[in-house]
Amino acid sequence: MADAIIETEGLGKSYGSAWALRDVSVSIPPGTIGLLGPNGAGKSTFLKCLLNLETPTTGTARVLGRNIRSSHRESRERVGYGPELDAHIPGMMGCEYVALCGQLSGLPFRRARQRAHEMLDLVGMGQERYRSIDTYSTGMKQRAKLAQALVHDPELLILDEPTNGLDASGREYILRLIGSLRRDFGISVIISSHLLQDVERICDRVMIVANGRVIEHDTIANLKARREHVIEITPLSGRDRLVQVLEEAGHAVETLANGRLRIASDAASSNWVLELMQQHGLPPAHLSASPDALQGLFLQALATANQGGGLA
Ligand code: ADP
Repeated sequence: MADAIIETEGLGKSYGSAWALRDVSVSIPPGTIGLLGPNGAGKSTFLKCLLNLETPTTGTARVLGRNIRSSHRESRERVGYGPELDAHIPGMMGCEYVALCGQLSGLPFRRARQRAHEMLDLVGMGQERYRSIDTYSTGMKQRAKLAQALVHDPELLILDEPTNGLDASGREYILRLIGSLRRDFGISVIISSHLLQDVERICDRVMIVANGRVIEHDTIANLKARREHVIEITPLSGRDRLVQVLEEAGHAVETLANGRLRIASDAASSNWVLELMQQHGLPPAHLSASPDALQGLFLQALATANQGGGLA
């Protein structure tokens, strides 16, 4: 893929005899990409290999068209990184810290200081920027981490578990901000998460990782379309008659614990169910199509990985 932001070929990393990452060959186009997998899946290892913070045991990788081993310095100027763990310098004020990160990425002092304030504004940090980072809440630390990753105006942002430790409103704020980066500034973002909701909420593409292997890699729209469609029906009345009509039409009907009826469907749309109900004069019902398509795929992928059947 000519304009891929990340291209890897047989990328792997072992610690002793244990493989944290195995034979990953992917080509990732620009966009907002979610690296999704349970804890210990190999997400951080993959990201650290791309950043040359870990030396791959096997394979090669190109980030923004450059080989990670030979062009480490250049990629540092074009890539921003928010690590999973805090990497703050004790005693330093938020604005000092972000400005220092700008300088480390190649900006002159004045420019770094100016950008630091602009990015702290962007992430919604007020006067707290003049306090020591040691006093920050988890939410403020995550914002400072995002500001330092953006300070040198990167083309690609790599964020390792950026919503870790946040409460619901803090998470919503950070996700909305990350989601706006591609739209408003054209920055591609890779975020790792063990939470499907985070990835589904802001990403257009997902890589599912388990046991160090890439199990799925596609756009979220394609993954949803690929999975068998499921329709859930909440009948207002006439439940037994509806079950009978569906079964006579050749559909296996599953009754869920919450009282809904679930059927498999060849089509994503649920219109055919409505038509069938109308034909039989059945009362209206609430329908939802493929309510958990991506979750089903995620769970299915994890089960496959646990059985040792990864597809990398
Ligand atoms: P994730 O980010 O998906 O939670 P990691 O990439 O951190 O997963 O870890 C993948 C696997 O590699 C885990 O089993 C972890 O224990 C192991 N691992 C990661 N870093 C090291 C290290 N420095 N030394 C030994 N094992 C490691």
